[in-house]
Amino acid sequence: MSKIRVLSDHVANQIAAGEVVERPASVAKELVENAIDAGATHVSIDVENGGRRLLKVTDDGEGMGRDDAVLAFERHATSKIARSEDLASISTLGFRGEALASIASVARVELTTRTEAAPAATRVAIEGGRMRDVKDAAHPQGTTIAVRDLFFNVPARRKFLRSEATESFHLTNLVTHYALAHPEIAFTLTNGGREVLRTAAAQDLRERAYQIFGAEFLDNLLEVSGGHPHVARVSGYVSAPRDRRTSRDSQYLFVNGRFVRDRLIGRALSEGYRAILPHGVYPAALLFIETPLEEVDVNVHPAKTEVRFRRSAAVADAVREAVRGALASAGYAKPEGRDVSEIPAEQDEEESSPAAMSATASEDFRSPTPEVGFISPERPVMPARTPGGPPIRPAPF
Ligand code: ADP
Ligand code: MG
Repeated sequence: MSKIRVLSDHVANQIAAGEVVERPASVAKELVENAIDAGATHVSIDVENGGRRLLKVTDDGEGMGRDDAVLAFERHATSKIARSEDLASISTLGFRGEALASIASVARVELTTRTEAAPAATRVAIEGGRMRDVKDAAHPQGTTIAVRDLFFNVPARRKFLRSEATESFHLTNLVTHYALAHPEIAFTLTNGGREVLRTAAAQDLRERAYQIFGAEFLDNLLEVSGGHPHVARVSGYVSAPRDRRTSRDSQYLFVNGRFVRDRLIGRALSEGYRAILPHGVYPAALLFIETPLEEVDVNVHPAKTEVRFRRSAAVADAVREAVRGALASAGYAKPEGRDVSEIPAEQDEEESSPAAMSATASEDFRSPTPEVGFISPERPVMPARTPGGPPIRPAPF
């Protein structure tokens, strides 16, 4: 008898969940990405107990018909790509078709969804990967997914969840990221019935940053606009040098609209401030890198927060020079170094392996502790400042 067997879908989904679903915020990430991909204009996130008991995301996007609502929970089921060539230019946030299958394998999930044309909504209930019920329901166009009792059937994973305050911090941080990346979408986040964040649709990033962080934060921001369209366009805001922080928690980095944790960009940002900010002191940043889709590989890790640039050194140059340019125009530094427009259009280079990147990522992007900042109306979103800078007023939630 042979010793090798092919694992069941159920076990395969739980293994995939190990990578995709680390904590409530990672569930929220997948669900919010799905809402954005579905073209939502309003996204509400309601959680209880730091997302462990309940995490519910409601959107007014295109919704799903009954067949799709059931298929969505199959492993590798996606409407976003079809051929392997599509992997070379991914324009949606999702594409792996495994988030819902993974989440449903480690929680009790209820999906209610309706398309514009459908006479009724569909409700699908699935628990620990087992389909329990599919029936008609009432729901406006769009989708609500409620995820209850995360890891109820995986006690080993449940033990790794941190305190309610820590999980809440990660959730707020995540929603803040997507709210910044999509000013045109109205977001609401409630935690235990209490409103943590509410933003109406905004005109642009500046208005959205004002909604989330308040006027004083905005006063300290310098506009960044630089880079090169063939390599990386860099836009957004960085803080004036008087605004000093002891962690990178206030750095919001995006690549093609995707929230990333990228050491390369973080380091290039710091280099832009070299000689202006001392070592161990970090600026705040809302930085958007736009590259041609084929210049960046987002299929590095199932959680999709790592990316790999085809020409990483050129991207780093673009970020550093754009940041220096912003500081120089505000009178803080002279722009120097080579101009990114001089970079040859074709130039492949070695990139550090994603494994190596994630191994050290934890050092640069330390998991925030509740002491650093459990975000609530009492504790502002922008934590961790060193003395000396002007105080930032609490976010106007
Ligand atoms: P992916 O996003 O990688 O395609 P998911 O498992 O997250 O995989 O979702 C599977 C499919 O379910 C999506 O491709 C999409 O067609 C559909 N779907 C998921 N969430 C929503 C939503 N909120 N609104 C509309 N369709 C959705
Ligand atoms: Mg998805």
